[in-house]
Amino acid sequence: MLKITANFDAGSVVVNDAADPAAIRLSLRPDNASGFKQWFYFRLQGAAYQNCVMTFDNAAESAYPEGWEDYAAVASYDRRNWFRVPSSYENGVFSINHTPLANSIYYAYFEPYSHEQHLQLLGDAQGSGLCQIDDLGSTVEGRDINLLTIGNQAESDLKIWVIARQHPGETMAEWFVEGLLGRLLDPQDPTARALLDRATFYIVPNMNPDGSVLGNLRTNAAGANLNREWETPTVEKSPEVYFVREKMLETGVDLFLDIHGDESIPFVFMAGTEGVPAYNPRTAALETAFKHAFATASPDFQDEHGYPKDAPGQANMTMATAWVGNRFDCLAFTLEMPFKDNHNLPDDDFGWNGQRSLRLGESVLSAIWAVSADLKK
Ligand code: ZN
Repeated sequence: MLKITANFDAGSVVVNDAADPAAIRLSLRPDNASGFKQWFYFRLQGAAYQNCVMTFDNAAESAYPEGWEDYAAVASYDRRNWFRVPSSYENGVFSINHTPLANSIYYAYFEPYSHEQHLQLLGDAQGSGLCQIDDLGSTVEGRDINLLTIGNQAESDLKIWVIARQHPGETMAEWFVEGLLGRLLDPQDPTARALLDRATFYIVPNMNPDGSVLGNLRTNAAGANLNREWETPTVEKSPEVYFVREKMLETGVDLFLDIHGDESIPFVFMAGTEGVPAYNPRTAALETAFKHAFATASPDFQDEHGYPKDAPGQANMTMATAWVGNRFDCLAFTLEMPFKDNHNLPDDDFGWNGQRSLRLGESVLSAIWAVSADLKK
């Protein structure tokens, strides 16, 4: 007797028919208050040693149908070790074809980063003795919007802001922050020490805790896509952006990184602010220097594949990177990691995953260090 459930942190699936292991019919469940759908995370029980074919009949109606091409789902028996399983996308139907070797197994769109892990990350950061936790306000469902501040908070310090998981299903973004924090809070790391002599870091590890717990791909509990709320956020609809933006206006910003995952493009890449009104030769030179230093620090980063560049003045100013880069006339990037794999350094067993995101987060500190002397206007 098979059983499929998603009634847990970040769980999401619709079960249409689970009577026959060879013909399990599922659907992607939309975000709780919007039509976006792509994220799934469910538990299958009672299928040990049976070949299971699980089809998602509405994959073509997902937010990024091209995300299913050359993509493989992840699975885990213990929710710690996640591996890729054979998957296919044909005629608009996404299928997982897998024979579990135990009675209980989890399947997900990407390696999850749970709310419990999030709270532990905050606790560990504070426990380092180098990090202050502030509460900026509450989400739509009353969860805490926490900011980590690392550094002396001197007036003369560079103000470096890093935010992650505006899109809650992009869990790789919080793995990235875990890596960045681990290195930044390591008193034996020379790059971290040197950086903290001249910079204060403001880090929001999870911009969208409601959406994360709800198992949403792209929106908060009120159905808002937070990365389209930066021009006119409201306490009712997008408090997560509202409170973070207020704090930024108070501290100022010299460098901004907004961490994401991309469903379609199988590379790590960044998008800058070439389309905002304030863009100038100084920003352009800083962008080039940062990308060069990042590529040197991590072979996972590249600048050949990515989004098409915006024409001058054509940036979407409701997006975080555009709004921040323009408002503070600073270096600002959206960093994208793949859901699929990095085709420059592919890994058949794991694809892109939590650990690789974490390592990338560690290496970004070297790129920040490389440009830090030139960030101050
Ligand atoms: Zn995103």
